[in-house]
Amino acid sequence: MESKTHNHHEQLHIIFFPYMAQGHLIPMLEMAKLFASRGLKSTLITTTSIAPFFSKTLISETSHIDIVTFEFPCLENGFLPIETISKLGPQLDHLLQQHRPHCLVADVFFPWATDVAAKYGIPRIVFHGSCFFSISAFLSIYLYAPHKNVSSDSEPFVITNLPGDIQITRDQMPDFQKNDDHEDNEKPFTKFYRVGMEAEMNSYGVLVNSFYELEKDYADYYRKGLGMKAWSIGPLLLYNKLDEEKANRGVMETSIDAHKCLKWLSSKKPNSVVYICFGSLTDFTDSLLVEIASSLEACGHDFIWVVKKKKKEKVHGEEEEKWLPKGFEKRMEGKGLIVRGWAPQMVILEHEAVGGFVTHCGWNSILEAVCAGVPMVTWPVAGEQFYNEILVTQILGIGVGVGVKKCVNVVGDNVKKEDIEKALRRLMVGEEAEEMRKRAKEFGKMARRAIQEGGSSYSDIDAFIQELKVHSYSR
Ligand code: UDP
Repeated sequence: MESKTHNHHEQLHIIFFPYMAQGHLIPMLEMAKLFASRGLKSTLITTTSIAPFFSKTLISETSHIDIVTFEFPCLENGFLPIETISKLGPQLDHLLQQHRPHCLVADVFFPWATDVAAKYGIPRIVFHGSCFFSISAFLSIYLYAPHKNVSSDSEPFVITNLPGDIQITRDQMPDFQKNDDHEDNEKPFTKFYRVGMEAEMNSYGVLVNSFYELEKDYADYYRKGLGMKAWSIGPLLLYNKLDEEKANRGVMETSIDAHKCLKWLSSKKPNSVVYICFGSLTDFTDSLLVEIASSLEACGHDFIWVVKKKKKEKVHGEEEEKWLPKGFEKRMEGKGLIVRGWAPQMVILEHEAVGGFVTHCGWNSILEAVCAGVPMVTWPVAGEQFYNEILVTQILGIGVGVGVKKCVNVVGDNVKKEDIEKALRRLMVGEEAEEMRKRAKEFGKMARRAIQEGGSSYSDIDAFIQELKVHSYSR
């Protein structure tokens, strides 16, 4: 170990190493801003291709962030191939050697970062981009393998030791998590997952983009039951104060101007609009999109629907787009806004006209809905999203499930129009909807209190900085 002595007056320096996908990058960027605003030196690793976008997002005058660029291979459909992830190790090694920061916060997708940091005596902190509930469930399943005791993929099993007797099925787990491969013949992603879980347990600790009041039992279980060191420092999105910051998070150009969205929303009644968006990676089939469109039309609610499609030219006045029922857009004029590409999601969710959110259950999206006090229709697709769904529907009571049963990467499981319609009605009108909306608003208030001075996240950030000081200056 090549450790370096730091003196007491030196400014604490954290290097942030995000995975280059929106759901990981956005919160890590916000985390870097947060620590900079608390007087620490923040350095963010990024790639040559996306560095230019940052000038737009790093506009907060109170938080200066240094940017360093790595040569990063291109993402394939939003994912970085596993083989190339490990090739980033030497660049990280070189950076740590050069800068000797006091701490490295690295994404869970870089398991080897723990060893690189250890080489220089620097604590490595893991960032998952998820909540306490899901990271606890993952670690419990990894340690106790309760999914090995069921006879079929659709048979529910209880997640060992997780408070609340929580049940899930193998169908709802991502393939890599089932860990079914024989050791000699382990698939790359299964191995990657195994190595990641071990690195998490061997790391110094974990920073979680959540707040204690939202999932107390699971924050306690992760720390005391599973013996992990963790700080809950969110919701990070609430540190965006300026309108431009809220409208330009991440590194995507929005396909619609935030002002245009707001103007459209302002013509609608409070809680009357459904917002539909499935995150950055989901890409549903045309036939599933037709089901969504038909259910929206049948329900009659106003909507903003974000679709990962480009506008096609009309040929002889005919609709070219196979993912829309014939004449749909014309019939929905004034009632529905279709955003092809990327929407200013946080700005939309915060508008009082939005009364419900149909989400794929990415953690950032859920947290954004919680902060905006908006209940959800949960429609998980992949990764840990089925776990997040359980938190939203069964534990927090701020969402209704659309009824998907299987984890299917990118394209998702099939859903029928009738099921979407049913979930939309439950979400938007009636006593249940009002109850969920009330609870969601309460959580939204708690979130704001958590980040204020004296709040739970504020105090956890203090505790984390204090521990870093003790750790760095006592060596
Ligand atoms: N997002 C957005 N506009 C879009 C789609 C997504 O601003 O059109 C943002 C969304 O607000 C969230 C992030 O992208 O902050 C997606 O993260 P999440 O964890 O919800 O899902 P993922 O994309 O990682 O599956």
